Amino acid sequence: MKAEAESLLSAFEQILPEHYQSSIVRQSQVQMAIDILDFLQPTNPKRILIVEAPVGTGKSLGALLPAMQFVQNSIKRVLYATSTINLQGQLMREEVPLLQKMGLIKKPLLAMGKSNYYCHVEFENNMEKLEGFEGKFSQYFTDADTGQRNDFENLFEPVPNAIWEQVLLKASRFECGRCRFWPTCPTRIHRQRFLNPSNDLVITNHDQLIRSTLNAMSEDTSEEIVPTTPGVIILDEAHDFQENHAGQLESVLHEYELGKIKRFLPKDCRSEMNQVEQELRQFMINERQRLVSKNGRYSIPERAKLLLEKMKPILHKALNNLVSNINQNDSRDPSDIVESILIKIDHLLDEKANISWVEYEDLSFTSITRKFPTEFRKLLMQLKVRNKLIIMSGTLTAEGDFTSMLERWRLGSHEVITRSFSSPFDFKKQARIYVPDNLVRHRGHVEIDPIYLGNQVQHIKKLIEATNGRTLILTTSKQHMDDVHQQLHEHTKQLNLTLLKQGQASVERLSKTFKEEEHSVLIGSGSFYSGLSVPGKSLISVILTKLPFPVPDDPYLSLIGEGMEDDLFNLVLYPNMMVKLTQAIGRLIRDIKDYGVVTILDPRVYENDQYGHLIRRAFESQGYQFTRSEQQVFRFFKRCDKNLPKVTYKQYKRSQLQISTRLSGKPEKRNVPRKVAVETHAAKKEVVKVTEQQWLFYERVCELKGKPLGRPKKLRSPRALYEALYAMFYTGNEDVKFVVEEFPYINEAQRAEFSTYNGAGLMRSYRMSEEELAQLQQRLSSKNKLA
Ligand code: SF4
Repeated sequence: MKAEAESLLSAFEQILPEHYQSSIVRQSQVQMAIDILDFLQPTNPKRILIVEAPVGTGKSLGALLPAMQFVQNSIKRVLYATSTINLQGQLMREEVPLLQKMGLIKKPLLAMGKSNYYCHVEFENNMEKLEGFEGKFSQYFTDADTGQRNDFENLFEPVPNAIWEQVLLKASRFECGRCRFWPTCPTRIHRQRFLNPSNDLVITNHDQLIRSTLNAMSEDTSEEIVPTTPGVIILDEAHDFQENHAGQLESVLHEYELGKIKRFLPKDCRSEMNQVEQELRQFMINERQRLVSKNGRYSIPERAKLLLEKMKPILHKALNNLVSNINQNDSRDPSDIVESILIKIDHLLDEKANISWVEYEDLSFTSITRKFPTEFRKLLMQLKVRNKLIIMSGTLTAEGDFTSMLERWRLGSHEVITRSFSSPFDFKKQARIYVPDNLVRHRGHVEIDPIYLGNQVQHIKKLIEATNGRTLILTTSKQHMDDVHQQLHEHTKQLNLTLLKQGQASVERLSKTFKEEEHSVLIGSGSFYSGLSVPGKSLISVILTKLPFPVPDDPYLSLIGEGMEDDLFNLVLYPNMMVKLTQAIGRLIRDIKDYGVVTILDPRVYENDQYGHLIRRAFESQGYQFTRSEQQVFRFFKRCDKNLPKVTYKQYKRSQLQISTRLSGKPEKRNVPRKVAVETHAAKKEVVKVTEQQWLFYERVCELKGKPLGRPKKLRSPRALYEALYAMFYTGNEDVKFVVEEFPYINEAQRAEFSTYNGAGLMRSYRMSEEELAQLQQRLSSKNKLA
């Protein structure tokens, strides 16, 4: 065995157990680390590794340990990009100190996004809106080390979003360079360290990595914010990466910008603009009230397009007027502001070049180039040119099949190595998924349906009473979050429980309070679906108010699904929902000693014929048990509160690790357990599994034809399944068109590949006409007589 592999194994087998004072070594974590070390070897030609490792694998350490070991004594560094602040904080608190102790990290740096930093210029501009925080911010400016919001909150107190927004950094690096506070500003000094080559580990967010890479790709002279060629990039929470990239390319027009712009317009244009703007605003508010799902991306209605179109000549006229009357003394040129709004409207209405949508929750319009899928691929290609790129997440695939993800990311299976690991937890013992059987559906025509809301709150109240707090409630819109929060306020007060809501303080601060105050209830949407990790008794109940489906004709997802239009629901919309749902459910069990219940207040899990059973089956296959009985749920809580479920990690065996010849120096073992073999050989040949839809189609055909139901092991690949179905029709002398047209192909490539099959080698049975049959019967009966 190569020395570096040996040293990596001894880190997991000896140093980590000593550090954690536990004898546990996780087989899948060690396997993942070995796979990453193998991928990083210069002799390994692949530059992208995709890892799906569910909660409990210990993927952060499983990736950081081999990566940091690999860059020792070289000029290479590691950049670790996450999507959520929570994970960044967790890495700095937990993994980094351990690796520092092991001597693998010397200079780590947490490079957070801009909105997490304090700016003294903003403070001066908005002093009157700081509601008593003025003195603390002033003092912070002189005392701060980093300028980060979290540091402020540790020194003083939680700061609500509305206050923080008044002081957060908006200036560009160039503007900071011209600021009078430049020499002493802690934010500027800290942010300048982001590119310091002596940082051996930089922890940052997706946005800063993407922005820096786009800057590096562009021809202008914009600088990188974080290093884009460190040598090794770990992209964690990768399920969000594509949308985060889209966020950087989007052009967003908020309705309030249209309102604000009016004061810059010459008088004769102002009233005209006011009329159209008011009409548009009212139209959007009416639409928002009409919709059940307030959040999500919707196609822009024709009426709104017409109104935007109507604004163009007014703004053009105003622009001409403003340009010819420029006042040199104005610090802000209003013509620039009008022009920027005009450009955004042009982008929105240019349907040939862009895809556009409206989001009613914050009354905004967004457009993005139709070339986005190609742009995304270009970004990945840029990242891999001078780095080894490790893409990982707990949820990337539909039941272990990377095909849909690779299609959405426009990556070929030959370009990447894929690895998928199963969870080390025993969900059967540790968890239940509860879908109450008396749920009320939302009445679509009512903005806030009081019966629907009342029913949900009733269930939530009973559950938080049973668990005495210790609950995370996840909603799918801010509006719903506020409604539920309002309804729980009195009840939690009576029960003496702390009620926390997203937005009251930074995400990191809220998570910390939630962890520390065991009897608390946290209610949130977006940021808490992933990244929040609360092992232990502070979180034993996760309540989801709704299945997190996207809008059915979400224009952005339609763009990502270009080429998959025939089955957009199964290939894009359903996997999108499942990734979010899995993320949300994954908040519950974070440790082998954890237990709890996920409650889904959405009857569709049982009532929807198209996907209800798929959802249940997907989680049941991981060991989760579903229940509809409140009593069972209460009994489960009671039982686990008394005696923790007895769950242990699978025993670690070095001999069962798959170690490549690159690391072991020996030929690869052949007699390995199948599951592990699939994981490690996936790189050589992408294993395409039969999808749930394909099995269901198979079962439907068997039922129709009166054949035995079941899922024969020999039909393990979609091709084998297709051929078996084809044979059922072909050999029966029936038209195979039904199979050819109705088979649920996973993509166009599969359809094209299977279409070449023509039943070669199969025997067609000959179906006799009635006349032929009569003649045969006659011949047979005369033969019998002769005999
Ligand atoms: S240097 Fe930049 S961050 Fe600091 S006060 Fe000035 S503008 Fe704000």
